[in-house]
Amino acid sequence: MSSQHTPIRRIVILGGGAAGWLAASILAASRPNGALDIVVVESPDVPILGVGEGTWPTMRGTLQKIGIDEQTFLRACDASFKQGTCFHQWLNDDEDHRYYHPFSLPFDYPNPQLGQWWQHHHSHQSFAHTVCSQATLCDYHLAPKQLQTPPYAGVVNYGYHLDANKFAQLLKQHATEHLGVTHVIDHIDAVIGDTDAPILGLQGRTSGLIKGDFFVDCSGFAARLIGQHYQQPLTSCQHILANDSAVAIQAHYEDPTADIASVTHSTTQPHGWIWDIALPSRKGVGYVYSSAHCSDDEAKATLANYLKSAANIQRNIDIQDAKQLRFSPGYRQTQWQKNCVAIGTSAGFLEPLEASALVMIEMAASHLAEQLPSYTQQLSAAAQGFNQVFSQRWQRIVDFLKLHYVLSQRQQTAYWQQMSDINSASEQLKNWLTLWQTRGPLASDFSLREEIFPAASFLYVLYGMHQCPQLSVQMQEENALQRAFQQSVQSTRQQLAGLPTNRQLLTQLHQIQLGKAG
Ligand SMILES: Cc1cc2nc3c(=O)[nH]c(=O)nc-3n(C[C@H](O)[C@H](O)[C@H](O)COP(=O)(O)OP(=O)(O)OC[C@H]3O[C@@H](n4cnc5c(N)ncnc54)[C@H](O)[C@@H]3O)c2cc1C
Repeated sequence: MSSQHTPIRRIVILGGGAAGWLAASILAASRPNGALDIVVVESPDVPILGVGEGTWPTMRGTLQKIGIDEQTFLRACDASFKQGTCFHQWLNDDEDHRYYHPFSLPFDYPNPQLGQWWQHHHSHQSFAHTVCSQATLCDYHLAPKQLQTPPYAGVVNYGYHLDANKFAQLLKQHATEHLGVTHVIDHIDAVIGDTDAPILGLQGRTSGLIKGDFFVDCSGFAARLIGQHYQQPLTSCQHILANDSAVAIQAHYEDPTADIASVTHSTTQPHGWIWDIALPSRKGVGYVYSSAHCSDDEAKATLANYLKSAANIQRNIDIQDAKQLRFSPGYRQTQWQKNCVAIGTSAGFLEPLEASALVMIEMAASHLAEQLPSYTQQLSAAAQGFNQVFSQRWQRIVDFLKLHYVLSQRQQTAYWQQMSDINSASEQLKNWLTLWQTRGPLASDFSLREEIFPAASFLYVLYGMHQCPQLSVQMQEENALQRAFQQSVQSTRQQLAGLPTNRQLLTQLHQIQLGKAG
């Protein structure tokens, strides 16, 4: 590059929520010798979202990469182990119907005959219980590992449930104390630069002009840079996924020594669904619903009702303490414009049915860390690749979430009639469902280098919802699959005998951590 080219050295990140601090940490860790000068600007007046308590297994790699020790993380964030999601009453009103979407892949995956083999030989038990040990481990609230398993490693795959406010706090402390990130507390009143040109700086209310070579918009739903300044529109998905509201509350245990669930529980309601997440010291429970079908008061009443009948929750909860949240389901096709990229809810947000927001932040920040060019003159080339890949990722999430609804037979309310209507699904999802009438999802149906939801995720949901293909091909590998199944049964038995419960393992890990601190 000639001397006329301008190097990218100073990165200004607007926003101090999970997105801002994850982006700062991932970028800083990727350039360990201080090659980048990273500043996070956070408004003293705009609070962070403070929800978002379920992660994807990718968070283990992210925390390790940025240098946070697992025991410190678990304790600081009141975190527990998440091994997937359990969906209740998604098929219909049958209170006993539930299925798992576990994080571990089925045995022998991606053998395309697995689903067919399960249908022939084992359909008396659920697909997830047949093809991996994790569903059974979750039935017993077991941990994904033993005390002696190395940090971030697992006997089975896992992510976390965590306290979102504590998580942002830990990331902030780590980024500023160990990764050389500068923290500025100031409200940004103006963006300096023309809307068809690179941003020159941000005008802070008290600190004046904050200059940068590159800007990361992590300002949450405000989308201060990508939306307000660059006017990049949000592609609405409300016609596909109608949910645009949530009401959330923290609930304390009646018996604080009781088991900690290994999964997020998701239970359908007349106008949406309720998440139920167990942390070591409390639960996080919330109702996600469509404001077009349900008033906020009705939503609170539904949540209160759920809490009344839920096991092991203190009864003295005041539902008026619940946090009300509103969002526009959708994403921006152009997330990277000029010298600015949006990461986090500024880029888009879809209902948290499969906890896809934090993993999208991790992926976007890692992509940026890898692809951030050395000179400003290369930015538009990098932007094109980013926008293409991330638009596809958003579309994939829309399709995967919609799959949960279109397979449902629930028709009791206008909400469920609308959400389960196949006509409101994308052409891609309709095409897949047509192909999957005579075969299961295949790895080759999905083209992205890193799919958040691989074919296995689609298999778990389809078969969990009793959507089995009418099989047309001859089974060829029955013996090999039967042998793999026997091995899986054997390892399930060993894991059941050898794994502690979540509560036991977390208590042991905290005691070790306290011992170190003492
Ligand atoms: C109901 C609900 C449930 C969710 N559940 C999950 C889940 O289970 N799993 C998951 O992965 N995700 C979940 N999410 C999403 C998750 O909460 C977010 O992805 C995550 O919190 C990141 O938010 P953020 O950092 O983008 O925005 P925020 O937390 O809103 O942070 C925005 C930051 O920008 C700053 N800011 C804004 N304007 C200015 C300004 N003018 N000047 C200076 N600073 C400014 C604010 O001060 C703040 O620091 C959920 C979201 C909702 C709504």
